[in-house]
Amino acid sequence: MLDSYKRNIDYLRISITEDCNFRCKYCNPNGELNYSKKSISKDEIIEIVKLFSELGVKKVRLTGGEPLLRSDLIEIIRDIKKIKNIEEITMTTNGLLLNKNLLELKNAGLNRVNLSLDTFNKSKFKEITGVDGLDKVLEVIGELELLEMVPIKINCVLINKFNNDEIKNFINFTRDKKVQIRFIELMSMGDNIEWGKEKYLSAEEVLEKHKDLKLYKEENVAKIYKLPNSKGEVGFISPNSNKFCSSCNRIRITSEGKLKLCLHSDIEYDLLKILKSKNPLTELKNIMLTKPKEHKLGEEKYIKKNMVKIGG
Ligand code: SAM
Ligand code: SF4
Repeated sequence: MLDSYKRNIDYLRISITEDCNFRCKYCNPNGELNYSKKSISKDEIIEIVKLFSELGVKKVRLTGGEPLLRSDLIEIIRDIKKIKNIEEITMTTNGLLLNKNLLELKNAGLNRVNLSLDTFNKSKFKEITGVDGLDKVLEVIGELELLEMVPIKINCVLINKFNNDEIKNFINFTRDKKVQIRFIELMSMGDNIEWGKEKYLSAEEVLEKHKDLKLYKEENVAKIYKLPNSKGEVGFISPNSNKFCSSCNRIRITSEGKLKLCLHSDIEYDLLKILKSKNPLTELKNIMLTKPKEHKLGEEKYIKKNMVKIGG
């Protein structure tokens, strides 16, 4: 559906758990196992997706926390796949557990995966995530290629004095592989506000140093570049330096079943209550019309929750 600013909202991101097997410094900085006591059930997820599909949602992304920790993930994907109008199901994952059931996930209806990877260095990987898992995550890239779940998107958060010396390696990774590296500007929120400010590195700075990257296309919130003759692509998602709110086509659902119309707003709506109301569709339509025009990150208005509780 079109919102009040004529943006076509067709993309739903659902966090299916707040639990995570990593403790990334920018996402879950205190490393607590601070997960919600109860995540939305599979049946609630399906009811919610059905409702949004009636409002024009076509793409669903499963996220978390770590979505692979959910034991009924295959059934969730299978049941979403059956919903009319849903054209694509994707998942964002840290990849550690992905090699266990990738084929099963694909057969259930998972189209593609975004893998999170901020470094190619084993000890830096452990430093940023708290887990010694780089080898397993790299293996998964080969498996995604074999299963032709391409383009494989790799989310890399730009972190000053941590991975700026590896940016060239990430860009070169796209020369021979059908991958899309997606550099994401670090966002300050929750418990990471000071760390986030200190470690911030803008997409502009990176582009300034890599003039061989040429703008190729725009994809909703991302600007996509390419090296000459490369198989892959390099995307930049710059919520801070290049506000993309006017092309934001997404809404988010937390693992507690709360609807977030904007990532950078603390306002949430209780979907489980709405599902039980007399006319959920009308109620939801009215709420969707309140999606804010833009975020206030530039004014240093940061949200209270950590990203692990929202899903990115
Ligand atoms: N656990 C999964 C993973 O890591 O891919 C899915 C959830 S994670 C919250 C989704 C994405 O958000 C990841 O790619 C992560 O790098 C990104 N992210 C988390 N916190 C962030 C922050 N403060 N700024 C920018 N990106 C962030
Ligand atoms: Fe977990 Fe993903 Fe957040 Fe890392 S980025 S702590 S893997 S939810």
